[in-house]
Amino acid sequence: MSHAAADRHAWTEPAVEDLGGGVHRIPLPLPLDGLKAVNVYAITDPGGVDLIDAGMAIVAARERLTEALRQLGYGLGDVRNFLVTHIHIDHYSLAVELRREFRTLISLGEDERANMIATREMINGTGGHRVFGAESLRRLGATEMIGRLSTLERNGPMFTDWEDPDRWVADGADLDLRTRTLRAVHTPGHTLGHVVYHDAASEIMFAGDHVLPHITPSIGFEPAGNRMALRDYLSSLARTLALPDARLLPAHGPVTGSTHERVNELLAHHDARLAEAADAVRAGHATPFEVARAIKWTRRQRLFDDLDLFARIQAVNETAAHLEVLLVRGQVTRETSPVGADLYQLPDGTDGVSQR
Ligand SMILES: [Zn+2]
Repeated sequence: MSHAAADRHAWTEPAVEDLGGGVHRIPLPLPLDGLKAVNVYAITDPGGVDLIDAGMAIVAARERLTEALRQLGYGLGDVRNFLVTHIHIDHYSLAVELRREFRTLISLGEDERANMIATREMINGTGGHRVFGAESLRRLGATEMIGRLSTLERNGPMFTDWEDPDRWVADGADLDLRTRTLRAVHTPGHTLGHVVYHDAASEIMFAGDHVLPHITPSIGFEPAGNRMALRDYLSSLARTLALPDARLLPAHGPVTGSTHERVNELLAHHDARLAEAADAVRAGHATPFEVARAIKWTRRQRLFDDLDLFARIQAVNETAAHLEVLLVRGQVTRETSPVGADLYQLPDGTDGVSQR
């Protein structure tokens, strides 16, 4: 592994990083191909601990959290609150497991209710496919991918034991902890109910998956689905820029100096992706599936057909989200094909070049 690659993964190493002011970063392991760890943040005071995000309910994560808290002088029973940024399994499920034993209080953004309901329908088999984004593949023009889903559904993550939080957190709620006040800011896009926890006095933001330093978060990859996920996400990025700049404490990746700097990079990334999608429509690609195949993916500019099935489903859904933003901006039109697929085209009489 090169030095650059080693540095890129350094944040995943077992550690308790002291960020000052009683705040500590604790990376917990994940059994996923792409993401190797999720950061939880411990906010400590003499009486106990509050945790931002909880990690995934696997033995290795629970053991690592136990050891990290022990180093700080606490046990799992000293955790008062799990303040969770969003409903994804790598952030939420360990909180549910630990609450059973320790009666810890769980908070989650109130707009995640739709995802909680959709998750239960998926578990109970009443909602169709068990892989997010799969039910829309026909509409996205990707019918040829549907037949391959059964293997993924057999091997995909299990969604058991989903339970409601103790508190559904409203946008703008101020959470008074012992040493600081955190404001929950609703930042939909990655999921419908994602919140970041902003400490303006200390100039830090617990950003969950809304702003990540090394990767672009997936958009609308959630049980309830959200066709407007990218429009929501771009609005949430703008909202983050309207808040004071802060140190970025992300759920995946190292702590960095500026939320604003990274938000501007993410906005530039999506501008470029929107332009690529518009170019593909101009070249005659009509369905989200066709457009996704016409553009390059990941930092390494990979071909769509070289991605694994799970990544292809995400790519088609993300492409659709970009096309919907172009639709809202009047740069493309949409109609439905006889087999129910979305077809995007340039508006009559234009070459699709945006008028700024
Ligand atoms: Zn995550």
